[in-house]
Amino acid sequence: MTKAVSILGSTGSIGKQTLEVCTELGIKVAALTAHSNVELMEQQVRQYHPQLAVLYQLEAALELARRLSDVDVKVVYGLSGVIEAAELPESDTVVTAVVGMIGLQPTLAAVRLGKRVALANKETMVCAGELVMDAAHQYGAEIIPVDSEHSAIFQCLQGCRNRSEVKRMILTCSGGPFFGLSREEMSQKTCADALCHPNWSMGAKITVDCASLMNKGLEYIEAMRLFDVPPEQISVVIHRQSIIHSMVEYRDGAVLAQMGTPDMRLPVRYALTYPNRAISALPPLDLLSCPPLTFQAPDLEAFPCLQMAMMCAKTGGTSCTVLNAANEAAVGRFLREEISFGQIPDLVERALQTVPVISTPALEDILEAEQRARECAER
Ligand code: NDP
Ligand code: MG
Repeated sequence: MTKAVSILGSTGSIGKQTLEVCTELGIKVAALTAHSNVELMEQQVRQYHPQLAVLYQLEAALELARRLSDVDVKVVYGLSGVIEAAELPESDTVVTAVVGMIGLQPTLAAVRLGKRVALANKETMVCAGELVMDAAHQYGAEIIPVDSEHSAIFQCLQGCRNRSEVKRMILTCSGGPFFGLSREEMSQKTCADALCHPNWSMGAKITVDCASLMNKGLEYIEAMRLFDVPPEQISVVIHRQSIIHSMVEYRDGAVLAQMGTPDMRLPVRYALTYPNRAISALPPLDLLSCPPLTFQAPDLEAFPCLQMAMMCAKTGGTSCTVLNAANEAAVGRFLREEISFGQIPDLVERALQTVPVISTPALEDILEAEQRARECAER
């Protein structure tokens, strides 16, 4: 079990819930990092006493250092600061809960030191999953998924001694706020409409990804990388109630599902306590008051982002990096109200058509593909 953590993205939705779990379980907080939220970072440092606090943005870090001049904490900035938090010898586990591909290099740094990585940051797996998993094998690092679907699959795989017995992994998907709409009906939806998720409260970027089903597409690629399964063995099923978090079908026909009330503290807690399970104060799942559980096929025509992600999963290489980077840029533009919801898949498609694919990329190729895709979607 985890003794001390570095939390990358501590001021975000997953980061804050991780801090709650650390308090519950008595886990020491060694380092905290965020982008620029000085206010909340100051509060967190005063409450959790990490030895290192990082803000990515220089001005924000300077302001934080000024405010914390009475506290014994080292304050640094930039990507090198986030990597320093990931590498801190005092933490045995790194929770990567930053949003976006910025999580890649800090995750790799933790993996190369053989640390446990509790991975929420799916963009890292999508962009460079093979590289990260190869490094994890090489350095003996454990990567424990925090994304609820992957945590569910990971839990359903416990006790499986022979992976060839797994026939299929079934990712469940809430369908998001635009479930049942046509592509035309969705195209003019606003930020406020997209930010209204039926079952989960999360950061803005992932909430928009849930509305376009790009989130499920990224999770499809994430599952393929994390569990080393070909895309043909992964399917997606719409399950509006988010009670079943995902399933594994075995070759004898048995289907194992992990169920629970939708609450990210459960997968966070499991990633920190694995292979053990800690007592939790969360309300238990009350099956008798659950709505009926329903399942439907996703509408790939209405949600082209999911379809493009499934195609990239098959193509592999840097196509997944391009998909992710173009989507990050497009969602950023949508959140700044520069483009409509319907333009998100258009920009991703343009980047996929423009940036050439490298099939077995090194880290530099991935970073370059990311840059080119981003530029293409920013135009
Ligand atoms: P939020 O937007 O709520 O939080 C993002 C965090 O990352 C903030 O702490 C932010 O700091 C920090 N951050 C952003 N950019 C940088 C940077 N350049 N350097 C350092 N820190 C940075 O996101 P979520 O918590 O919702 O999501 C985090 C990750 O977890 C995403 O990859 C998401 O896909 C994944 N995830 C989230 C789930 C959820 O329920 N929220 C569920 C499953 C997966 P600041 O506050 O200063 O901007
Ligand atoms: Mg998820």
